[in-house]
Amino acid sequence: MSPAGAAGVNYAIADAVATANHLAVPLRTGTIAVADLQRVQRRREPAVRIAQALQRQQTRQLARLAPTSPTTSNRTANLPGGS
Ligand SMILES: Cc1cc2nc3c(=O)[nH]c(=O)nc-3n(C[C@H](O)[C@H](O)[C@H](O)COP(=O)(O)OP(=O)(O)OC[C@H]3O[C@@H](n4cnc5c(N)ncnc54)[C@H](O)[C@@H]3O)c2cc1C
Repeated sequence: MSPAGAAGVNYAIADAVATANHLAVPLRTGTIAVADLQRVQRRREPAVRIAQALQRQQTRQLARLAPTSPTTSNRTANLPGGS
């Protein structure tokens, strides 16, 4: 998860809860298998994909709104072809 929207820790907690729910018994009984990990992945992936899509959208919007820094403009103006 990217820092955009400051949502990552919420998702990390939900991941931890889902992981504990799915893996506690197989870990205790020593029967854990790849299929148990795949269950966690299936449970969490849809929500995480949606959050990441929203983060990408937010990041693009912020990039469009970001003012051009005067320092950057001055530097650009001094470059060949700059204005
Ligand atoms: C700059 C920045 C700012 C952020 N700000 C915010 C914020 O303000 N609010 C918010 O909610 N979220 C924020 N986030 C997002 C948030 O930090 C993450 O989404 C969250 O920490 C993910 O938690 P996690 O436990 O899933 O993974 P992580 O915190 O990445 O933990 C994974 C751990 O597993 C370890 N690890 C990885 N592979 C192995 C391996 N093979 N063997 C052993 N250990 C391994 C890693 O070393 C790490 O310690 C920010 C992220 C960044 C980068």
